[in-house]
Parts: sequence; C-alpha cells; structure tokens
Amino acid sequence: MSKPLDAVLNRILTSAQLPTLPATAVRLLELTARDDTTFPDIVDCITRDVALSAKILKAANSSFYSFQRRIVSINQAVALLGTNAVRSLVLNFTFLSLGEQPDNSLFNLELFWERSLVGATAAKLLAAQVPGIDADELFTIGLLQNIGQLIFAVTMPSRYNHILEQLAVNGQDAVETALEEEVLALAHTDSGAEVAKVWGLPPAILAAIRHHHDPDAYADGNPHERVIVNIVFLSDLVTRIFYSCAPERHYRKLLDAAGRLPGLDDPALKNILAVIHREIDRAAHSFEVRVNPVRPVPEILQEANIRLSLLHLSYEEMNRELIRAKQELESVRRRLTERNLLLERLANIDGLTEIHNHRYFQTFLQSEINRARRNRGSLSLLLADIDHFKQFNDVYGHQTGDFILKELCLVAKNMLREYDLMARYGGEEFAFVLPETSADTAMDVANRLHRAIADHDFFDGQRHYRVSISLGVTSAVPAGVDGFNRNDFIGQADQALYTAKNKGRNQVVLYQPRTRPAA
Ligand code: GH3
Ligand code: MG
Ligand code: MG
Repeated sequence: MSKPLDAVLNRILTSAQLPTLPATAVRLLELTARDDTTFPDIVDCITRDVALSAKILKAANSSFYSFQRRIVSINQAVALLGTNAVRSLVLNFTFLSLGEQPDNSLFNLELFWERSLVGATAAKLLAAQVPGIDADELFTIGLLQNIGQLIFAVTMPSRYNHILEQLAVNGQDAVETALEEEVLALAHTDSGAEVAKVWGLPPAILAAIRHHHDPDAYADGNPHERVIVNIVFLSDLVTRIFYSCAPERHYRKLLDAAGRLPGLDDPALKNILAVIHREIDRAAHSFEVRVNPVRPVPEILQEANIRLSLLHLSYEEMNRELIRAKQELESVRRRLTERNLLLERLANIDGLTEIHNHRYFQTFLQSEINRARRNRGSLSLLLADIDHFKQFNDVYGHQTGDFILKELCLVAKNMLREYDLMARYGGEEFAFVLPETSADTAMDVANRLHRAIADHDFFDGQRHYRVSISLGVTSAVPAGVDGFNRNDFIGQADQALYTAKNKGRNQVVLYQPRTRPAA
C-alpha cells in the first residue's frame, strides 16, 4: 500500500468514532467461524441478549420469512431457519443500528440505511435465482456493501463532505470510487473491506465489499465468492435504478450484466424488478427501518422514458406529448394494479378448489383473533375432514376425488355468511373461521354443514356419489383467555376433529377443555 493510503486507513482504524460491533455479534462471528461450535453454543450466545432475541423472533415470524409455523424460541429459530440464517438476522439488526448521524455533515444516515436495505433486498432476490447461494446471507452482504461510506462519514466527516458536495452537483450517477480515491486516497470499497476485516466478518463479505463496483478485479479465484461478488455488483445497479436521475441507464447496464450469473436470464430479472418494491416494504417492516415509499420499477422506467422523449420538443409539442404521456402513465399504473391483484390472488387461493388456501387462512384467523380481542367478542373455528377419502380415491380414482373436493367447496361455501371464511387447510381438510360466533351458533353451523354434505348428491355427469365429513368445533372469547393464541385455538379444533374421527367419523364434536380432577 502507498503512503497516503496507509495514513488514511490508519486514521480510520484508530478513530474514536469508528463504530464497534456489540459483544453478541462479535461472539457469534467467532463461534460461527470455528469448526467445533455446537448448536447450543449459538443458541446460548443469542439468548443472553434478550432485546436482540426478541427482535429476531419478531423478524423470523414476519411475512419476510413466511414460515407456516410460529417460531417461539431462539432454539426453534436456529433449528428451523438454520445457523446461517440466524447469524444473518443477528448481523442485520446489528448493522442497522450502527452509527450515529454525524454533526455538520451532508451525510444522511437514515437515507444511507434505506438505500442499503434496497441493495440488500435486491441481493436477496437475485441470490434466490442462483443455485447454491444462500439468499439470507446475500441480504446481509447487500446491506453491508457500502459500509465504507458510513465509515468515511463518521471518521472524517468534513473531508467526506467534499465528496458528498461533488456528488450532489454531478448527480448521484458519478462514480463515487474514483472521486473518493482522488479526494481521500481511498475508496469506500477499501475502507469498508478493511473495517469489516477488523470486525472479523467472513471472507466472502470482505470480497463482496471490496469488489462490488468492479467484479472483474476479483482475482482470488474462489468460484463461490466470485458469484457473490457479482450478485452484489448487480444489486448495486438495481439500487441505482431507484435513486438515480437516469434510471434507464442503470436498467440497461443491469440487463447487459445479468449474463454474469447462471440462472439469471431476462425474464427472471424482469420478474425481480416487478416485485422488488413490495419486498423492500416487507424487509423494512421486519427490520423496523423507516423507508420512504418505493415505487414499482416499471413505473420509474416509464416515467424516465417520458422525460427523455420530452427533451427536444417545442412548447406545443411538449404540451401534447405531456397529455399523451400522462394517459400512458395512468394505463401503466392500472395494469400494474391489476397485475398485483392477480399476484395477490394467486398467492392466496388454492388452485384446485379456488377457495382460500392455508396461508390466507392463517392470516385471516390472526386478524379475526385481534379483532375479537379488541371488541371483546367471540370467535369460532371449525375443522372438517372428509371421511375415508383415501379409500374413495382408491375406488373411484383421483380425478373423481378432485371433483368431490371442488363440489364440496361449492356446497359448503354457499351456506356461509359473507364474512365467514372457508379455506383449504390441506389435502381433504377444510377450515371455517366464523367471526362473532358463539359456541352454540358454531355448532348449528357445523351440524348444518355436516348434514348438507351427507345429503348432497355428488353427480359428475356419469355417476352419483355420497361422502361424509367429520367436524371439530371450537369457540372462544379471546379477550377473556390469558395468553390466547392462534396455534392453541387451531389445536383445539384439531383435537375435537380427532375425537370425531375416533368416535366413528361422520359427526360433529365440540372441543371440551380437559379439566383436571380436583386434588
Ligand atoms: P379419515 O376418515 O381418517 O380422514 O381417512 P382418510 O382416508 O380420509 O384420511 P387420510 O389422511 O388417510 O387420507 C387422505 C386422503 O385424501 C389421501 C389423499 O389421497 C386424499 N387427498 C388429499 N388431497 C387430495 C386431492 O387434492 N385430490 C384428491 N383426489 N385426493 C386428495
Ligand atoms: Mg379424511
Ligand atoms: Mg386427513
């Protein structure tokens, strides 16, 4: 390293303002770098930090991870998500609370983390397309790619201000690294990587921080790291689409560069760009980061296009063109809204029966529990399961089985109130959520459903079939039950259903809490 570069680096690394990592993160990094670390070591290390543990559980249960089961302990989080994902979560929270807004600085810490979160989300979505790459790890690396800028801002605020001033004049599209080398003798890619090394971050993170603006300079020959460096490089281009005044330029660059990665063709990339604004929202929510609303990329690009086409027009032409452009933009917005509705629908509807799916059921039930709790109202839940359906399939064939499932849904759905939910819980099992319904009424509904299915003539145009269902019913006033939760509530309905099956099927059973015999 040259003299001035050494001096700058030294100044940074010895600065009293250089952020340090909290003890938990340091310990976790040490643990995960060793071969002899056991699963309980990791759990122990995290659970000692109560506040961090709470944050991790909240994030692990957020829609960003969309796990079917509720994760209630760090132990379970490590078991279900894996050591790597949990380490990533710890690091994400650690980094997102790093640094303080420096005084008298043009640097905007909040905007910095917002932008980093966009980069992280982009890296995660890109990584998910590439075989053999851990998407959660890439989120963390994406988050950290520009940490060198934060380091500059806090350790040498006034000198870094010169750079920020110039960037403001030239627009955000200037190549920061060249400017940084000119003014500070060091680019943020190097300051970031050096500090990350001091922090004990793994080699892949160092490589990505150091080379994310110039992936071809990565010469260490580790193919896995090379892929990671390239993903982060692309995630930076995606981020620039959001923040640049010439988004289309970065978009074209991105399309050109995507070929660097296996699994990332044009359609895959365009799909990512179509959904990323929603993922960014989710990530912001999970990690409790404030983010200004991000617009859909197609809308950003369309607007940029319109701006370009206005550049060389006369006043009248421009007016005409503006009107046309406004209409066009409206139609893009409409199409996007429609598309989002369709995506939402696809995500929540069961393909065979066209009723709501398990995922939607869980969300719906939770919001009804919350509502009942607020209103101190009652809520009921039924689980229904077709009797001996395996045998039915064996005798009449799977297609006839499918017909029964669809027809059964039509019959049952017709009997519900508008605000009740029927969902496919799994295979031949259905869940019914009945808001503001007492146990008595729920039993009436269950008995009517039971009877309607038993009486229904299932006719597929060729033959007539009969089926029966068993139902488990439970009901509660959530506000009156200590620690009432969704899983227990489902467990009760399931237990009642199990009893109905045990007692010979083809019947309705109401859940009875087991009372302890008096001592
Ligand atoms: P039980 O009365 O105890 O509920 O017996 P069962 O045979 O209904 O229960 P089991 O859980 O043993 O089998 C469920 C069957 O449901 C097996 C599976 O083939 C059938 N099934 C699940 N999903 C579908 C589907 O989408 N289409 C069809 N045709 N059959 C399905
Ligand atoms: Mg069954
Ligand atoms: Mg079953």
